[in-house]
Amino acid sequence: AIFEGLSTRLQETFQRLRGKGKLTEDDVKEAMREVRLALLEADVNFKVVKEFVEKVRERAVGQEVLQSLTPGQQVIKIVNDELTELMGGTQSRIALASKPPTVIMMVGLQGAGKTTTTGKLANLLKKQNRYPLLAACDIYRPAAIKQLQVLGEQVKTQVFSMGDQVSPVDIAKNAVEHAKMHGFDYVLIDTAGRLHIDEALMDELKKIKEAVNPDEILLVVDAMTGQDAVNVAENFHQQLGITGTILTKLDGDTRGGAALSIRSVTGTPVKFAGMGEKLDALEPFHPDRMASRILGMGDVLSLIEKAQANVDQEKAQEVGKKLMSGEFTLEDFLDQMQQIKKMGPLQDLLRMIPGLGNDKALQNVNIDDKQIARVEAIICSMTPKERQDPKVMNASRRRRIATGSGTSVQEVNRLLNQFADMQKMMKQLPGLAKKMGK
Ligand code: GDP
Repeated sequence: AIFEGLSTRLQETFQRLRGKGKLTEDDVKEAMREVRLALLEADVNFKVVKEFVEKVRERAVGQEVLQSLTPGQQVIKIVNDELTELMGGTQSRIALASKPPTVIMMVGLQGAGKTTTTGKLANLLKKQNRYPLLAACDIYRPAAIKQLQVLGEQVKTQVFSMGDQVSPVDIAKNAVEHAKMHGFDYVLIDTAGRLHIDEALMDELKKIKEAVNPDEILLVVDAMTGQDAVNVAENFHQQLGITGTILTKLDGDTRGGAALSIRSVTGTPVKFAGMGEKLDALEPFHPDRMASRILGMGDVLSLIEKAQANVDQEKAQEVGKKLMSGEFTLEDFLDQMQQIKKMGPLQDLLRMIPGLGNDKALQNVNIDDKQIARVEAIICSMTPKERQDPKVMNASRRRRIATGSGTSVQEVNRLLNQFADMQKMMKQLPGLAKKMGK
């Protein structure tokens, strides 16, 4: 889960607040002390932490909060709002050129993930029916050009290269010209990185900037490096003037410090987040969703987007109606599972559900897709009549089904019990049924 340590600590703090009917100023003070420690431990910049806690505290000891019926919830909402604000408020999109091509300079230190991210960004743009050109301007690192060419092949995007004997400034200029002539609407310039910030690197980047007048200068930083990433960003911004950052490796075991401080320290927004090594693992950075995920409120929006992209809407509605009216059968259950399977690993999905994000129990549940396959096998071994009305299955049929599906009687029984529980639960929700039933 994202920022696991921070997330767990904040949620524990709020769990205690939630339990209280009324809050005193001391309760808020105590909670803020814990929030402060949690943020510091997550490697958030200390100045950022100080300002953040002060803002939340001021709002939280306000009359409306302390005297409301759900003060705990109100405090959580304030923290959610302020975390969102801290990360930039709303999603920050790529600034487009008034006349194409939009020129984006990709900069960063070696190993941050700059070249990979350039490929990912091209991939993302292509999915939006854009037409990007990649420019290979890292002529120093052996194989950097080759790496970009391989990425270009993978995302089916043209790579502009002039080898490693031409100056990067000239390559960049020529790439933009080439893009204009051939109707590309974006140019992504992959620049050189160094192990450390040095004058030669900055000079070259400044020259490229002057030569191509980019619409965006995006700094790629490794979120795993915490405050180092923030320092690097500050430095790049002072010298070069970046327009935004891309945080990579947010899929790793990062504590959250970079993501939470970088916007505030540099004054430039995080535009994208790298969530893995694969080419499709780049996401637009949504501050509000990120905040909700940290607070375990679930990333419902991403969940819905995922569902919309992968699930047959009509079918889903039909199933929903059946669920509510109590006509839901094992057959529908199977159907439902097949739909869910299309959305990717169940574990990932469950994490996005409010309240489950960091649930300890969830971590032990370990629902793997193999298990789904077993349930599927069990249901497929039943006759249509049995799927409609599981009660007709006696012990010998259950045994037969277990054998037929390559599972055990216990597993068959467990599934039937779970299903019965679910039906019972659904029947206890008449209010909800009315709301959705129409
Ligand atoms: P560059 O030197 O900045 O161009 O770095 P590269 O693009 O070569 O990437 C360095 C390493 O980081 C590679 O092994 C990438 O696969 C890896 N990497 C890049 N972005 C991500 C990410 O978002 N998540 C993970 N897990 N690995 C990444």
